[in-house]
Parts: sequence; C-alpha cells; structure tokens
Amino acid sequence: MSSYYRLKCPKCQGPMKVRASTEQHVFLRVMYLQCQYVPCSWSVRAEFQMTHELSPSGQPNPAVSLPLAPSALLSKARQDNRDIANNNQLDMLDAQEASA
Ligand SMILES: [Zn+2]
Repeated sequence: MSSYYRLKCPKCQGPMKVRASTEQHVFLRVMYLQCQYVPCSWSVRAEFQMTHELSPSGQPNPAVSLPLAPSALLSKARQDNRDIANNNQLDMLDAQEASA
C-alpha cells in the first residue's frame, strides 16, 4: 500500500500526468504536467515545494531543515487531512490510497 497524489486538470477535470520533473533544490521540484483527456491535453509547468515542518522527522538531519509551521498553518493542515479522510476533494489535488 502506498500513497500517491492525483492531479485534476483545472480546465476539464481530467487526470493529469507528470511528464517530467527536475529538482531545483532539496525542497523544490519543477514538474511538467499534461492532461490525459486527449481533447483537452492541456500542458503546464508546476512547482512542488516543501515549505514548513508539521512534525519532526524520526531521523533528524541538521543539514536539512524547514521552519516550523505556525499554529494557523498546523490547524489548516489538520483540517485538510480531515477533509481528505472524509473523501472531500481539494480544489486541484486529492490524496488517495492505492495498491503499489
Ligand atoms: Zn484537461
């Protein structure tokens, strides 16, 4: 069992696929996405960035650190996790469980 993210095309709500990605920084990846619904086929550049620590790592690495999330961000993260657990979709991104 593993987790993955499924991206929905904002234009047509079809599934989007990551065609390529490059690491810009340990916390930043640039991704090139394309809608898999052929009549749409929208393609975009996107960025995936880790911004705040929500809970500490069990294997701390002093060379890799992020600012601790402020309380408002922690509250938002908890609410988003509850929404996902309740299977409510976020705007463009939803997390699902799938067999590996
Ligand atoms: Zn699309």
